[in-house]
Amino acid sequence: MDYDVIIIGAGPGGIFSAYELRKKKPGLKVAVFEAGYSLEKRKCPIDGVKVKSCIKCQTCAIMSGFGGAGAFSDGKYNITNDFGGTLYEYIGRERALDLMRYVDDINVSHGGENTKMYSTAGTHLKKLCMQNKLSLLDASVRHLGTDINYIVLEQLYNELKDDIDFFFQTPVQKIEALQGGGYRILHKDGSAECDKCIISVGRSGSKWMETVCQDLEIDTKSNRVDIGVRVELPAVIFSDLTDELYESKIVYQTAKFEDRVRTFCMNPYGSVVNENTNGIVTVNGHSFEDPSKRTENTNFALLVAKHFSEPFRDSNGYGESIARLSNMLGGGVILQRFGDLERGRRSTEKRIAECTVHPTLAATPGDLSLVLPKRIMDGIIEMIHALDKVAPGTANDDTLLYGVEVKFYNMEVKLNERLETNHPGLFCIGDGSGVTHSLSHASASGVYVADLIAEE
Ligand SMILES: Cc1cc2nc3c(=O)[nH]c(=O)nc-3n(C[C@H](O)[C@H](O)[C@H](O)COP(=O)(O)OP(=O)(O)OC[C@H]3O[C@@H](n4cnc5c(N)ncnc54)[C@H](O)[C@@H]3O)c2cc1C
Repeated sequence: MDYDVIIIGAGPGGIFSAYELRKKKPGLKVAVFEAGYSLEKRKCPIDGVKVKSCIKCQTCAIMSGFGGAGAFSDGKYNITNDFGGTLYEYIGRERALDLMRYVDDINVSHGGENTKMYSTAGTHLKKLCMQNKLSLLDASVRHLGTDINYIVLEQLYNELKDDIDFFFQTPVQKIEALQGGGYRILHKDGSAECDKCIISVGRSGSKWMETVCQDLEIDTKSNRVDIGVRVELPAVIFSDLTDELYESKIVYQTAKFEDRVRTFCMNPYGSVVNENTNGIVTVNGHSFEDPSKRTENTNFALLVAKHFSEPFRDSNGYGESIARLSNMLGGGVILQRFGDLERGRRSTEKRIAECTVHPTLAATPGDLSLVLPKRIMDGIIEMIHALDKVAPGTANDDTLLYGVEVKFYNMEVKLNERLETNHPGLFCIGDGSGVTHSLSHASASGVYVADLIAEE
Protein backbone atom coordinates (compact mmCIF):
# COMPACT_ATOMS: atom_id res chain seq x y z
CA MET A 1 0.00 0.00 0.00
CA ASP A 2 1.17 3.54 -0.73
CA TYR A 3 -0.64 4.91 2.31
CA ASP A 4 -2.27 3.65 5.49
CA VAL A 5 -5.02 6.25 5.09
CA ILE A 6 -6.06 8.39 2.15
CA ILE A 7 -8.36 11.32 2.86
CA ILE A 8 -10.30 12.76 -0.06
CA GLY A 9 -11.09 16.45 0.46
CA ALA A 10 -9.32 19.05 2.61
CA GLY A 11 -12.36 20.75 4.13
CA PRO A 12 -12.86 20.80 7.90
CA GLY A 13 -13.82 17.09 7.88
CA GLY A 14 -10.64 16.06 6.06
CA ILE A 15 -8.39 18.47 7.96
CA PHE A 16 -9.55 17.29 11.37
CA SER A 17 -9.20 13.63 10.32
CA ALA A 18 -5.62 14.35 9.27
CA TYR A 19 -4.93 16.35 12.44
CA GLU A 20 -6.23 13.59 14.70
CA LEU A 21 -4.48 10.74 12.85
CA ARG A 22 -1.17 12.57 13.09
CA LYS A 23 -1.71 13.25 16.77
CA LYS A 24 -2.89 9.77 17.78
CA LYS A 25 -0.71 7.66 15.43
CA PRO A 26 2.26 9.78 14.33
CA GLY A 27 3.76 6.88 12.36
CA LEU A 28 0.82 6.43 9.99
CA LYS A 29 1.35 7.26 6.33
CA VAL A 30 -1.46 9.63 5.42
CA ALA A 31 -2.25 11.50 2.19
CA VAL A 32 -4.87 14.14 1.47
CA PHE A 33 -6.13 14.62 -2.09
CA GLU A 34 -7.86 17.92 -2.73
CA ALA A 35 -9.52 19.16 -5.92
CA GLY A 36 -8.87 22.83 -5.12
CA TYR A 37 -5.85 24.99 -4.36
CA SER A 38 -3.71 25.32 -1.27
CA LEU A 39 -4.92 28.02 1.11
CA GLU A 40 -2.69 30.88 -0.06
CA LYS A 41 -3.60 30.27 -3.72
CA ARG A 42 -7.33 30.41 -3.12
CA LYS A 43 -8.41 33.69 -4.77
CA CYS A 44 -11.85 34.39 -6.17
CA PRO A 45 -11.42 36.58 -9.30
CA ILE A 46 -14.43 38.76 -8.40
CA ASP A 47 -12.89 42.10 -7.39
CA GLY A 48 -15.98 44.27 -7.88
CA VAL A 49 -14.12 46.36 -10.49
CA LYS A 50 -12.80 44.30 -13.42
CA VAL A 51 -14.69 41.14 -12.55
CA LYS A 52 -18.07 41.94 -11.05
CA SER A 53 -19.77 38.60 -11.06
CA CYS A 54 -18.97 34.92 -11.13
CA ILE A 55 -16.98 33.78 -14.18
CA LYS A 56 -17.48 30.12 -13.29
CA CYS A 57 -13.86 29.05 -12.76
CA GLN A 58 -13.12 25.37 -13.21
CA THR A 59 -12.42 25.04 -9.49
CA CYS A 60 -14.30 27.54 -7.34
CA ALA A 61 -11.82 29.17 -4.96
CA ILE A 62 -14.62 29.91 -2.51
CA MET A 63 -15.90 26.35 -2.23
CA SER A 64 -12.77 24.26 -2.87
CA GLY A 65 -9.22 24.02 -1.61
CA PHE A 66 -7.54 23.72 1.79
CA GLY A 67 -10.21 24.71 4.32
CA GLY A 68 -13.06 23.57 2.07
CA ALA A 69 -16.29 25.53 1.74
CA GLY A 70 -15.69 27.06 5.15
CA ALA A 71 -12.33 28.73 4.45
CA PHE A 72 -13.74 32.21 3.81
CA SER A 73 -16.83 31.67 5.89
CA ASP A 74 -17.71 33.53 8.99
CA GLY A 75 -16.18 30.69 10.98
CA LYS A 76 -19.10 30.14 13.32
CA TYR A 77 -18.58 26.88 15.15
CA ASN A 78 -21.92 25.99 16.75
CA ILE A 79 -21.73 23.49 19.57
CA THR A 80 -25.15 21.91 19.57
CA ASN A 81 -27.12 18.88 18.45
CA ASP A 82 -30.15 21.07 17.63
CA PHE A 83 -28.89 22.01 14.16
CA GLY A 84 -25.88 21.63 11.91
CA GLY A 85 -26.32 17.92 11.24
CA THR A 86 -27.40 14.59 12.67
CA LEU A 87 -24.03 13.26 13.78
CA TYR A 88 -25.54 12.47 17.20
CA GLU A 89 -27.83 9.88 15.59
CA TYR A 90 -24.73 7.84 14.73
CA ILE A 91 -22.41 8.45 17.66
CA GLY A 92 -24.66 9.64 20.50
CA ARG A 93 -25.44 13.14 21.77
CA GLU A 94 -22.75 13.37 24.46
CA ARG A 95 -19.96 12.08 22.19
CA ALA A 96 -20.99 14.49 19.46
CA LEU A 97 -20.90 17.46 21.87
CA ASP A 98 -17.58 16.30 23.36
CA LEU A 99 -16.02 16.15 19.91
CA MET A 100 -17.35 19.59 18.98
CA ARG A 101 -15.81 20.98 22.17
CA TYR A 102 -12.54 19.19 21.36
CA VAL A 103 -12.52 20.82 17.90
CA ASP A 104 -13.18 24.17 19.55
CA ASP A 105 -10.16 23.68 21.84
CA ILE A 106 -7.98 22.99 18.79
CA ASN A 107 -9.26 26.10 17.00
CA VAL A 108 -8.66 28.20 20.10
CA SER A 109 -5.11 26.90 20.46
CA HIS A 110 -4.34 27.57 16.78
CA GLY A 111 -5.04 31.29 16.57
CA GLY A 112 -8.56 31.54 17.96
CA GLU A 113 -7.58 32.33 21.55
CA ASN A 114 -8.99 35.85 21.57
CA THR A 115 -12.33 34.99 19.99
CA LYS A 116 -15.58 34.89 21.86
CA MET A 117 -17.92 32.03 22.72
CA TYR A 118 -21.58 33.10 22.82
CA SER A 119 -24.41 31.09 24.40
CA THR A 120 -28.20 31.06 24.54
CA ALA A 121 -28.11 29.70 28.13
CA GLY A 122 -30.21 31.90 30.43
CA THR A 123 -31.06 34.57 27.85
CA HIS A 124 -34.27 36.61 28.26
CA LEU A 125 -34.54 36.64 24.45
CA LYS A 126 -35.89 33.10 24.52
CA LYS A 127 -39.02 34.30 26.32
CA LEU A 128 -39.40 37.29 24.02
CA CYS A 129 -39.24 34.99 21.00
CA MET A 130 -41.79 32.57 22.50
CA GLN A 131 -44.18 35.44 23.19
CA ASN A 132 -44.06 36.23 19.47
CA LYS A 133 -44.54 32.69 18.14
CA LEU A 134 -40.84 32.32 17.45
CA SER A 135 -38.60 29.62 18.87
CA LEU A 136 -34.96 30.35 19.71
CA LEU A 137 -32.83 27.19 19.48
CA ASP A 138 -30.20 26.38 22.12
CA ALA A 139 -26.52 26.59 21.16
CA SER A 140 -23.10 27.83 22.07
CA VAL A 141 -21.28 29.42 19.20
CA ARG A 142 -17.62 30.30 18.79
CA HIS A 143 -17.30 33.11 16.29
CA LEU A 144 -13.86 32.98 14.72
CA GLY A 145 -14.66 35.46 11.96
CA THR A 146 -13.39 35.20 8.40
CA ASP A 147 -10.00 36.65 9.34
CA ILE A 148 -9.23 34.41 12.34
CA ASN A 149 -10.71 31.37 10.59
CA TYR A 150 -8.03 31.88 7.93
CA ILE A 151 -5.29 32.12 10.54
CA VAL A 152 -6.48 28.91 12.23
CA LEU A 153 -6.42 27.08 8.89
CA GLU A 154 -2.96 28.45 8.14
CA GLN A 155 -1.63 27.23 11.49
CA LEU A 156 -3.22 23.80 11.09
CA TYR A 157 -1.71 23.41 7.63
CA ASN A 158 1.75 24.42 8.83
CA GLU A 159 1.52 21.86 11.60
CA LEU A 160 0.43 19.06 9.25
CA LYS A 161 2.37 19.69 6.07
CA ASP A 162 5.63 17.99 7.02
CA ASP A 163 4.03 14.74 8.12
CA ILE A 164 1.13 14.42 5.74
CA ASP A 165 1.29 14.32 1.94
CA PHE A 166 -1.03 16.96 0.50
CA PHE A 167 -1.93 16.80 -3.19
CA PHE A 168 -3.70 19.99 -4.28
CA GLN A 169 -5.46 20.50 -7.63
CA THR A 170 -5.81 16.72 -7.68
CA PRO A 171 -9.46 15.72 -7.81
CA VAL A 172 -10.02 12.05 -7.21
CA GLN A 173 -11.87 10.56 -10.16
CA LYS A 174 -12.67 7.06 -9.00
CA ILE A 175 -12.36 4.76 -5.99
CA GLU A 176 -11.81 1.04 -6.54
CA ALA A 177 -12.16 -1.61 -3.84
CA LEU A 178 -9.16 -3.95 -3.98
CA GLN A 179 -9.53 -7.68 -3.69
CA GLY A 180 -8.33 -8.73 -0.26
CA GLY A 181 -8.98 -5.29 1.27
CA GLY A 182 -7.92 -1.72 0.76
CA TYR A 183 -8.69 0.85 -1.91
CA ARG A 184 -7.16 2.32 -5.03
CA ILE A 185 -7.96 5.92 -5.85
CA LEU A 186 -7.55 7.18 -9.40
CA HIS A 187 -6.69 10.81 -10.08
CA LYS A 188 -5.47 12.88 -12.99
CA ASP A 189 -1.80 12.10 -12.38
CA GLY A 190 -2.15 8.39 -11.66
CA SER A 191 -3.32 6.32 -8.74
CA ALA A 192 -2.56 5.52 -5.10
CA GLU A 193 -3.48 2.61 -2.87
CA CYS A 194 -4.43 2.68 0.77
CA ASP A 195 -5.60 0.47 3.54
CA LYS A 196 -8.35 2.82 4.68
CA CYS A 197 -10.04 5.68 2.89
CA ILE A 198 -11.96 8.63 4.32
CA ILE A 199 -14.20 10.46 1.86
CA SER A 200 -14.86 14.06 2.91
CA VAL A 201 -15.83 15.87 -0.27
CA GLY A 202 -18.44 18.29 1.08
CA ARG A 203 -21.14 19.90 -0.96
CA SER A 204 -18.98 20.65 -3.98
CA GLY A 205 -18.28 16.92 -4.24
CA SER A 206 -21.93 15.89 -4.02
CA LYS A 207 -22.33 14.96 -7.70
CA TRP A 208 -19.08 12.99 -7.66
CA MET A 209 -20.16 11.23 -4.49
CA GLU A 210 -23.26 10.01 -6.30
CA THR A 211 -21.07 8.24 -8.86
CA VAL A 212 -18.95 6.68 -6.09
CA CYS A 213 -22.10 5.31 -4.45
CA GLN A 214 -23.33 3.93 -7.77
CA ASP A 215 -19.96 2.32 -8.61
CA LEU A 216 -19.52 0.74 -5.20
CA GLU A 217 -23.20 -0.06 -4.64
CA ILE A 218 -23.55 2.06 -1.52
CA ASP A 219 -27.16 2.87 -0.62
CA THR A 220 -28.28 6.51 -0.49
CA LYS A 221 -31.35 8.49 0.51
CA SER A 222 -32.46 11.78 -1.01
CA ASN A 223 -32.19 14.73 1.34
CA ARG A 224 -33.90 18.07 1.76
CA VAL A 225 -33.22 21.42 0.19
CA ASP A 226 -33.67 24.79 1.93
CA ILE A 227 -34.75 27.74 -0.18
CA GLY A 228 -35.13 31.37 0.72
CA VAL A 229 -33.52 34.79 0.74
CA ARG A 230 -30.75 36.65 2.54
CA VAL A 231 -31.99 39.59 4.55
CA GLU A 232 -29.78 42.65 5.06
CA LEU A 233 -30.64 45.48 7.42
CA PRO A 234 -28.92 48.08 9.61
CA ALA A 235 -26.97 46.22 12.28
CA VAL A 236 -28.56 48.32 15.02
CA ILE A 237 -31.98 46.75 14.34
CA PHE A 238 -30.72 43.31 15.31
CA SER A 239 -28.13 44.40 17.86
CA ASP A 240 -30.08 43.25 20.94
CA LEU A 241 -29.92 39.73 19.56
CA THR A 242 -26.49 39.79 17.97
CA ASP A 243 -24.67 41.58 20.81
CA GLU A 244 -25.77 38.90 23.25
CA LEU A 245 -25.94 35.77 21.10
CA TYR A 246 -23.99 36.70 17.98
CA GLU A 247 -26.00 34.20 15.95
CA SER A 248 -29.58 33.36 16.86
CA LYS A 249 -31.24 30.37 15.23
CA ILE A 250 -34.91 31.27 15.29
CA VAL A 251 -37.69 29.08 13.91
CA TYR A 252 -41.18 30.22 12.95
CA GLN A 253 -44.16 28.12 11.95
CA THR A 254 -46.23 29.94 9.35
CA ALA A 255 -49.90 30.46 10.12
CA LYS A 256 -50.94 29.91 6.51
CA PHE A 257 -49.20 26.67 5.51
CA GLU A 258 -47.67 25.56 8.83
CA ASP A 259 -44.26 25.52 7.11
CA ARG A 260 -41.15 26.05 9.20
CA VAL A 261 -39.10 29.11 8.30
CA ARG A 262 -35.77 29.60 10.09
CA THR A 263 -32.98 32.10 10.35
CA PHE A 264 -29.64 30.80 9.20
CA CYS A 265 -26.05 32.05 9.15
CA MET A 266 -26.39 35.41 10.87
CA ASN A 267 -23.57 37.87 10.20
CA PRO A 268 -23.57 40.93 12.43
CA TYR A 269 -21.81 43.90 10.82
CA GLY A 270 -21.07 41.60 7.90
CA SER A 271 -21.26 41.43 4.12
CA VAL A 272 -23.42 39.54 1.69
CA VAL A 273 -21.43 37.43 -0.80
CA ASN A 274 -21.97 35.33 -3.90
CA GLU A 275 -21.75 31.57 -3.61
CA ASN A 276 -21.14 29.30 -6.57
CA THR A 277 -22.31 25.71 -6.40
CA ASN A 278 -21.60 23.74 -9.57
CA GLY A 279 -21.89 26.92 -11.66
CA ILE A 280 -25.09 28.19 -10.05
CA VAL A 281 -24.75 31.53 -8.31
CA THR A 282 -26.59 31.89 -5.04
CA VAL A 283 -26.08 34.15 -2.05
CA ASN A 284 -24.42 33.75 1.34
CA GLY A 285 -22.88 36.00 3.98
CA HIS A 286 -19.89 36.47 6.25
CA SER A 287 -18.37 38.92 8.73
CA PHE A 288 -15.01 39.70 10.25
CA GLU A 289 -13.86 39.54 13.86
CA ASP A 290 -11.63 42.59 13.23
CA PRO A 291 -13.76 45.70 14.04
CA SER A 292 -12.03 47.71 11.27
CA LYS A 293 -13.51 45.39 8.64
CA ARG A 294 -17.08 45.65 9.87
CA THR A 295 -19.93 47.09 7.82
CA GLU A 296 -23.00 48.91 9.15
CA ASN A 297 -25.28 46.03 8.23
CA THR A 298 -26.28 42.66 9.59
CA ASN A 299 -27.34 39.87 7.27
CA PHE A 300 -28.95 36.48 7.74
CA ALA A 301 -30.85 33.97 5.66
CA LEU A 302 -34.51 33.06 5.98
CA LEU A 303 -34.99 29.55 4.69
CA VAL A 304 -37.88 27.17 4.15
CA ALA A 305 -37.10 23.43 4.04
CA LYS A 306 -38.52 21.32 1.20
CA HIS A 307 -38.50 17.52 1.16
CA PHE A 308 -39.58 15.40 -1.76
CA SER A 309 -40.24 11.68 -1.72
CA GLU A 310 -42.45 10.17 -4.47
CA PRO A 311 -42.48 10.28 -7.47
CA PHE A 312 -40.00 13.16 -7.50
CA ARG A 313 -36.96 12.64 -5.24
CA ASP A 314 -34.48 15.20 -6.49
CA SER A 315 -34.72 17.90 -3.81
CA ASN A 316 -31.42 19.46 -4.89
CA GLY A 317 -32.57 19.52 -8.52
CA TYR A 318 -35.62 21.50 -7.43
CA GLY A 319 -33.43 24.01 -5.56
CA GLU A 320 -31.05 24.24 -8.53
CA SER A 321 -33.92 25.02 -10.91
CA ILE A 322 -35.07 27.88 -8.73
CA ALA A 323 -31.53 29.23 -8.44
CA ARG A 324 -31.07 28.90 -12.23
CA LEU A 325 -34.28 30.85 -12.77
CA SER A 326 -32.97 33.67 -10.58
CA ASN A 327 -29.62 33.57 -12.47
CA MET A 328 -31.54 33.72 -15.74
CA LEU A 329 -33.57 36.77 -14.69
CA GLY A 330 -30.86 38.62 -12.81
CA GLY A 331 -27.63 37.34 -14.37
CA GLY A 332 -26.76 36.27 -10.85
CA VAL A 333 -28.23 37.28 -7.52
CA ILE A 334 -31.42 39.42 -7.46
CA LEU A 335 -31.87 42.24 -4.95
CA GLN A 336 -35.21 43.66 -3.81
CA ARG A 337 -36.40 46.07 -1.12
CA PHE A 338 -38.92 44.50 1.24
CA GLY A 339 -41.27 47.44 0.59
CA ASP A 340 -41.13 46.79 -3.16
CA LEU A 341 -41.82 43.10 -2.64
CA GLU A 342 -44.88 43.81 -0.50
CA ARG A 343 -46.17 46.33 -3.05
CA GLY A 344 -45.79 43.78 -5.84
CA ARG A 345 -43.24 45.78 -7.82
CA ARG A 346 -39.66 45.17 -8.80
CA SER A 347 -36.78 47.12 -7.31
CA THR A 348 -34.83 49.29 -9.71
CA GLU A 349 -31.33 50.81 -9.68
CA LYS A 350 -32.96 54.12 -8.68
CA ARG A 351 -34.95 52.67 -5.78
CA ILE A 352 -31.88 50.82 -4.49
CA ALA A 353 -29.77 54.01 -4.80
CA GLU A 354 -32.36 55.91 -2.74
CA CYS A 355 -32.58 53.16 -0.15
CA THR A 356 -31.38 54.01 3.37
CA VAL A 357 -29.78 50.56 3.68
CA HIS A 358 -26.70 50.33 1.47
CA PRO A 359 -26.26 46.88 -0.08
CA THR A 360 -22.93 45.20 0.64
CA LEU A 361 -23.17 43.01 -2.49
CA ALA A 362 -23.56 44.37 -6.01
CA ALA A 363 -26.62 42.44 -7.20
CA THR A 364 -29.26 43.04 -9.86
CA PRO A 365 -32.36 44.91 -8.65
CA GLY A 366 -35.41 42.85 -9.57
CA ASP A 367 -38.46 41.00 -8.37
CA LEU A 368 -38.00 37.93 -6.19
CA SER A 369 -41.68 37.01 -6.44
CA LEU A 370 -41.00 35.99 -10.05
CA VAL A 371 -38.48 33.45 -8.82
CA LEU A 372 -39.60 31.99 -5.51
CA PRO A 373 -42.74 29.83 -5.29
CA LYS A 374 -45.63 31.68 -3.62
CA ARG A 375 -45.70 29.32 -0.65
CA ILE A 376 -42.05 30.02 0.15
CA MET A 377 -42.40 33.76 -0.49
CA ASP A 378 -45.48 33.99 1.78
CA GLY A 379 -43.65 32.13 4.55
CA ILE A 380 -40.69 34.51 4.35
CA ILE A 381 -42.91 37.61 4.42
CA GLU A 382 -44.81 36.22 7.45
CA MET A 383 -41.56 35.53 9.28
CA ILE A 384 -40.18 39.01 8.58
CA HIS A 385 -43.30 40.44 10.25
CA ALA A 386 -42.90 38.01 13.19
CA LEU A 387 -39.23 39.06 13.58
CA ASP A 388 -40.32 42.69 13.48
CA LYS A 389 -41.93 42.16 16.90
CA VAL A 390 -38.65 40.90 18.41
CA ALA A 391 -36.38 43.26 16.46
CA PRO A 392 -38.54 46.26 15.48
CA GLY A 393 -37.54 47.60 12.08
CA THR A 394 -37.00 44.20 10.47
CA ALA A 395 -40.12 44.74 8.31
CA ASN A 396 -39.08 48.25 7.22
CA ASP A 397 -39.55 49.05 3.53
CA ASP A 398 -35.79 49.49 3.08
CA THR A 399 -34.84 46.06 4.42
CA LEU A 400 -33.00 44.35 1.58
CA LEU A 401 -33.66 40.84 0.33
CA TYR A 402 -31.17 38.99 -1.87
CA GLY A 403 -32.17 35.86 -3.69
CA VAL A 404 -31.99 33.21 -3.94
CA GLU A 405 -30.27 31.57 -1.08
CA VAL A 406 -30.34 27.83 -1.46
CA LYS A 407 -28.87 25.45 1.03
CA PHE A 408 -28.20 22.22 -0.78
CA TYR A 409 -27.89 19.09 1.28
CA ASN A 410 -26.05 16.10 0.00
CA MET A 411 -27.93 12.87 -0.33
CA GLU A 412 -27.51 10.77 2.79
CA VAL A 413 -25.01 7.98 2.35
CA LYS A 414 -25.94 4.78 4.18
CA LEU A 415 -23.40 4.44 6.99
CA ASN A 416 -23.11 2.42 10.17
CA GLU A 417 -22.42 3.89 13.62
CA ARG A 418 -18.70 4.09 12.68
CA LEU A 419 -19.58 6.34 9.69
CA GLU A 420 -18.35 3.46 7.56
CA THR A 421 -20.00 2.38 4.31
CA ASN A 422 -20.89 -1.23 3.50
CA HIS A 423 -17.20 -1.53 2.43
CA PRO A 424 -14.99 -2.10 5.50
CA GLY A 425 -12.43 0.67 5.86
CA LEU A 426 -14.24 3.07 3.52
CA PHE A 427 -15.57 5.92 5.64
CA CYS A 428 -17.65 8.91 4.66
CA ILE A 429 -17.73 12.04 6.79
CA GLY A 430 -18.68 15.71 6.76
CA ASP A 431 -21.25 17.35 4.50
CA GLY A 432 -20.52 14.92 1.66
CA SER A 433 -22.03 12.11 3.74
CA GLY A 434 -25.29 14.00 4.26
CA VAL A 435 -24.76 13.52 8.01
CA THR A 436 -23.42 17.01 8.72
CA HIS A 437 -24.17 20.51 7.45
CA SER A 438 -21.79 22.64 9.47
CA LEU A 439 -18.19 23.35 10.35
CA SER A 440 -18.41 21.93 13.86
CA HIS A 441 -20.26 18.74 12.94
CA ALA A 442 -18.07 18.11 9.87
CA SER A 443 -14.89 18.63 11.93
CA ALA A 444 -16.19 16.43 14.75
CA SER A 445 -17.02 13.64 12.30
CA GLY A 446 -13.42 13.82 11.05
CA VAL A 447 -12.00 13.44 14.55
CA TYR A 448 -14.42 10.59 15.30
CA VAL A 449 -13.36 8.45 12.32
CA ALA A 450 -9.67 9.22 12.83
CA ASP A 451 -9.97 8.05 16.45
CA LEU A 452 -11.56 4.78 15.31
CA ILE A 453 -8.79 4.19 12.79
CA ALA A 454 -6.07 5.11 15.28
CA GLU A 455 -7.52 2.74 17.89
CA GLU A 456 -7.41 -0.10 15.40
C1 LIG B 1 -19.85 31.07 2.29
C2 LIG B 1 -20.08 29.97 3.30
C3 LIG B 1 -20.20 30.30 4.64
C4 LIG B 1 -20.39 29.30 5.60
N1 LIG B 1 -20.42 29.65 6.92
C5 LIG B 1 -20.53 28.69 7.86
C6 LIG B 1 -20.48 29.02 9.23
O1 LIG B 1 -20.24 30.16 9.63
N2 LIG B 1 -20.65 28.02 10.15
C7 LIG B 1 -20.87 26.72 9.77
O2 LIG B 1 -21.03 25.87 10.64
N3 LIG B 1 -20.89 26.38 8.47
C8 LIG B 1 -20.72 27.32 7.50
N4 LIG B 1 -20.73 26.96 6.17
C9 LIG B 1 -20.84 25.53 5.85
C10 LIG B 1 -19.50 24.86 6.09
O3 LIG B 1 -18.51 25.53 5.35
C11 LIG B 1 -19.57 23.38 5.70
O4 LIG B 1 -20.57 22.78 6.47
C12 LIG B 1 -18.24 22.69 5.97
O5 LIG B 1 -17.20 23.32 5.25
C13 LIG B 1 -18.30 21.22 5.59
O6 LIG B 1 -17.04 20.65 5.71
P1 LIG B 1 -16.60 19.38 4.83
O7 LIG B 1 -15.20 19.10 5.18
O8 LIG B 1 -17.61 18.32 5.03
O9 LIG B 1 -16.76 19.82 3.32
P2 LIG B 1 -16.13 21.03 2.50
O10 LIG B 1 -15.75 22.13 3.41
O11 LIG B 1 -17.07 21.32 1.41
O12 LIG B 1 -14.78 20.44 1.89
C14 LIG B 1 -14.78 19.44 0.93
C15 LIG B 1 -13.51 19.54 0.09
O13 LIG B 1 -13.45 18.40 -0.75
C16 LIG B 1 -12.94 18.78 -2.01
N5 LIG B 1 -13.39 17.82 -3.03
C17 LIG B 1 -14.63 17.67 -3.54
N6 LIG B 1 -14.63 16.66 -4.43
C18 LIG B 1 -13.37 16.18 -4.48
C19 LIG B 1 -12.74 15.13 -5.22
N7 LIG B 1 -13.42 14.37 -6.09
N8 LIG B 1 -11.42 14.93 -5.04
C20 LIG B 1 -10.71 15.69 -4.17
N9 LIG B 1 -11.26 16.69 -3.45
C21 LIG B 1 -12.57 16.92 -3.59
C22 LIG B 1 -13.49 20.17 -2.23
O14 LIG B 1 -12.68 20.88 -3.15
C23 LIG B 1 -13.48 20.76 -0.82
O15 LIG B 1 -12.32 21.51 -0.58
C24 LIG B 1 -20.52 27.94 5.20
C25 LIG B 1 -20.44 27.61 3.84
C26 LIG B 1 -20.20 28.60 2.90
C27 LIG B 1 -20.08 28.22 1.46
